[in-house]
Amino acid sequence: MQPIPFIDLQTQRDRIREKVDRRIATVLDHGAFIMGPEVRELETALSLFGSMQHTLSCASGTDALTLPLMAWGIKEGDAVFCPSFTFAATAETVALLGATPYFVDVDETTFNMDLDSLEAAIAEVKAEGRLNPRAIIGVCLFGQPADYPALRRIADKHGLKLIADAAQGYGGTIDGAMASRWADVVSTSFFPAKPLGCYGDGGAVQTNDAELAAVMTSLRVHGQNLEDKYDNIRIGINGRMDTIQAAILLEKLAIFPEEIEARGRIAARYSQKLSHVVRTQALLRDAVSTWAQYTVRLPEGTDRAAVAAKLKDAGIPTAIYYPKPLHRQTAYEHYPVSRGELKASDAISKDVISLPMHAYLDEETQDYIVETLTGVLAR
Ligand SMILES: *Cc1c(COP(=O)(O)O)cnc(C)c1O
Repeated sequence: MQPIPFIDLQTQRDRIREKVDRRIATVLDHGAFIMGPEVRELETALSLFGSMQHTLSCASGTDALTLPLMAWGIKEGDAVFCPSFTFAATAETVALLGATPYFVDVDETTFNMDLDSLEAAIAEVKAEGRLNPRAIIGVCLFGQPADYPALRRIADKHGLKLIADAAQGYGGTIDGAMASRWADVVSTSFFPAKPLGCYGDGGAVQTNDAELAAVMTSLRVHGQNLEDKYDNIRIGINGRMDTIQAAILLEKLAIFPEEIEARGRIAARYSQKLSHVVRTQALLRDAVSTWAQYTVRLPEGTDRAAVAAKLKDAGIPTAIYYPKPLHRQTAYEHYPVSRGELKASDAISKDVISLPMHAYLDEETQDYIVETLTGVLAR
């Protein structure tokens, strides 16, 4: 048997090989490697796909989070609420600007931001009066949108901005709508392993706020004056996406809706076959996840490392997302956490394991993974 890939980029590559190669050749021929025509074309296509008026492509998902925070002037003395059980970039961007990431717990079943923990964190900041509450960053963990309708209500109640960190869940929906219906800003990443990835680093930030879009456009290129580019009017970054990556993404975006459907089908099949042996990620009502990861919680008391080793011996790669929540990591452990402890984040990080997941996982391979895991857990 062929080795089983954790994420299979080669099958997709074969599927769109000619189109991507032609797109890249076009860029090499016209030579506009920075801000070439494909960049504009991609931004227009993403605005349509993501139901937002303004899309800025940028150099990474991390920049896509940094740009709106910078544009809103988030700085030292400000608090931004974010989950602890996420990839580091979510909180890193906040800390980099000198503001305080305030860690919130996640729900034990959906793995997304816990609303009670969020309300408690906001109340703590207000009661203490030391930090200025500014924004919430909801994360589409493993592909499932956070409960954005509820996060919007909480944000409005407290006068906070809402960012959807959709790096893992771009294209996912709740009640048929993407995070763009509720969030002030949707940020995403095109890192190759994300559900919509390019062949290098890339990202995008979307908003319906024209003024915010204009400030972020300036910040993306060193804070330049959009009318006079040799007059920099604010401190910005070099956050542009390469034209070649935009060209590649145009072809990937064309097949993305179909891939989201395939991922949903594969995940549903996993869940149906595994729900009696492990705890599968619960979906919010009517949520469509893009299944960036298919992650399950092993039964209490299971030796996770031993399970991973046995699966590896059987040719099945796995990964642990995430073995340590952010509030347990060296660079972040001094930041405040809601109610002083994040029980669910701590518990989940100890028993999760992610299985091979991509749009091209065939049923035979999937059945082998399911049977092997079931067998390992029965022993
Ligand atoms: C990958 C990821 C990012 C950062 O994206 P990069 O393109 O790697 O900078 C941010 N947030 C989450 C939740 C991610 O998974």
